[in-house]
This record gives sequence, structure tokens and C-alpha cells, in this order.
Amino acid sequence: MSNDQGPDSFHRRHFIVTAIGASAALAASSDPASTQTATTSGGTVFTGDTIDGKKVVSALDVNDLEPGKKHALYFQGVQMPSGQHWHVSVTVAKGAKPGKRGVLTSGVHGDEMSSVHTVQTVMNQLDPAQMSGTVTAVTDVSSPAIEGMQRRWPNSGRGIDLIDMNREWPGNENGASAASRHAGLLFNRLLRPNADFAIDFHTGTTGFEVTAFNLGGMDVPEVKAMVELYPVGQIFDNHAYPGVLHNAFMDVGIPSFTPEIGAARVLDTEMISLFVEGTINVLKHHGIVAGPMGRTVKDVSVFVGNNAFPILATAGGLVEHLVKLNDKVTVGQKVAVQRNSFGEVVAEYTSGVAGEITGQRSDAMSEPGNPLVFILFNKPGPEDAPVYPE
Ligand SMILES: [Zn+2]
Repeated sequence: MSNDQGPDSFHRRHFIVTAIGASAALAASSDPASTQTATTSGGTVFTGDTIDGKKVVSALDVNDLEPGKKHALYFQGVQMPSGQHWHVSVTVAKGAKPGKRGVLTSGVHGDEMSSVHTVQTVMNQLDPAQMSGTVTAVTDVSSPAIEGMQRRWPNSGRGIDLIDMNREWPGNENGASAASRHAGLLFNRLLRPNADFAIDFHTGTTGFEVTAFNLGGMDVPEVKAMVELYPVGQIFDNHAYPGVLHNAFMDVGIPSFTPEIGAARVLDTEMISLFVEGTINVLKHHGIVAGPMGRTVKDVSVFVGNNAFPILATAGGLVEHLVKLNDKVTVGQKVAVQRNSFGEVVAEYTSGVAGEITGQRSDAMSEPGNPLVFILFNKPGPEDAPVYPE
């Protein structure tokens, strides 16, 4: 954190953290194995290995790297059942001059390829010789999920199991699953120690497409300042739930949020370019990159909502959407119909709120209980934790 941030910036978040921290402490004291090892200032540890010519580290402090250069490293994550390690790729653009340190992550979910490409494109545009500060990128956080281009981490703890890595943060190096330990290793030894701010890029999920939007707590001035530098048309002003990576950063005082870049599994080059432009703007905002700002939220028409209204399927069958992503809808407006195998209409779905469509099921078949539509809207009163497949 910089010194120019107000003392109350994280007041609200700290309140939430205190409540969560109390239960976490109880759990820790009843489990002698969960003595978390946090190495936030231990310096860089090279294992002595190289993979494809890239040095392997088990801890990273970007201050140890040569300035004015890009560095490509592998970080040694948790072991597989075979005893091999899952390694994640780390690219560091270390500016010639000192300055703020940003962390960009993607691949927490393994099927969200536009997020990976966004981070790669930003890193490719950086010239460390002209930079004041450092940007660290990890594009493949959940390596085994990426291998299968699927959302969750395949795990063999109790027979085959699938773990959502974006419910595991900040992880636990002595946790009860490999995914939890992997998260703990990355958070303690790679991400947190090198972040003054952090952005965790996502997309919709397989079978469920979303618009371009940013998810974060707009009541936190440092977050609002960054989110408003993106020329994208929707802002989901909500803190989301514990366990997501951007909240692990927030909980330790590092401003963070989650961009969402359209559909899973594909590259949406048009949307990617908006998020690249916004991220470069963020680097300019922090003084890491020089030059005039690109387009921001001021250059687009933006809809800000603090909640997502979910419409869940009540029947099995083929779903036909009657509206498109980003469409405005009114209370009672019919947004989808569903037909059985005879072509008979078995369900009609209407919006319970006035807002904008932010997500739609893209797989045409659905069973009862599946989310079909999410509608971004403004709910008065206290914030709810959203039901949202980020
Ligand atoms: Zn995701």
C-alpha cells in the first residue's frame, strides 16, 4: 500500500475480516497441523532447477531481480500424486526505476482463456526500460484445471473430486487438499509479497456466458479508482464472497478486483482489447507506465449494479433466450422460454427486477436448478453476497 491512502479506506473490509478471522483462529487452534508458514519477506529462493531454460523459484521477491528487464520464471507449486510439482509460469516486468508493484493473475479457473490472453497481451506491451515499478503476471494459477480446460482442479483425495480454486484463497500451506496448499504457497510466497495492487482476471464459465464487466467493492476508493479506468459497460459493485482471490488480497490491505471478460473457452479479442486498455490505464494511474490515459468508463455508457438477480431453470429442456447480453429489462419482462422434447413450452421465465442482462446460459439444454440468466440490478439496503459463477 502507498502512503497516500486514507486511514479509513479498508474500514468496512476490516470489519468483515475480523469476523471471519475469529472463526479461522478457532479452527486453527483445534488442528495442530495447520500452522501456516507465511513468508512475506523472505526473499527469492531459487530451487536450482531449470525447466525449458527458465529458472525455478519456490519464493519470489521482485526486489531481488535485475531492473529494466523482463524475467520468465517457474514457481514451484504443490506436488502431484507422482511427486512431480505443478509449476506456474511467472513473468516479471521489472522497471528500470523503482515504483509500485502490481500483480496480474489469470487461470484460477482453467476454462477462462480470454483472461489468460488479456494478461499476456498487457505483459507483451510493457517495456521495462521505460517503467517505474514492477508488474508480475501469473497466467496459469490452477495448472491442472488448465490442462483439461475445465473450471475446477481435479483432485484424488477421496476418489476423483473437482475443487473450485476460487473458493480456496488465501489457501493453507498445511491444508486438507492439494488445491488449498497450492493456493497457500502461491499467495504467501509469490503473489502477496509482490503486490501493492492486484487484478484477478476471469470470464464466464463453460455453458454460461457473461458480458464484459468488473466485479469489486466500489465503496473502497482505491478499487473504485482502478475499476473506473476500464472502458467497459457494466460494473458489479459488490464485495463477493470470502475465498475468492481478490478478497484474499483485500483482506490483507491490497486493493483488488475481478474483471470478467465474456465467454469461457474462447478468445473474445474485442473484449480483450477493452481490458488490456483498462489495465494499461491502471498501470499509468499507479505511475508504473508513462503516457496519456486511454479510454475509460467515461467514454462508454456504463450500468452499475450492486446485485445479480438469478433466474434458475424450473424444468428440463431446451432454453431459448428472448433477450441478449447487455439488454435492459423491466420487472415482469419475459426473458426465456423452455420446451420439452415435444416442443411444448414447459416454462417461461420473467425478470423480477429492472436491470441489465449480465449473464446467460449458453448451453441450450438445461436441467432444473441451473442458472439461466443473471440480471445486474440495484438492490436498496444492505449488500447481499451474490450468487454468481465468477
Ligand atoms: Zn473464473
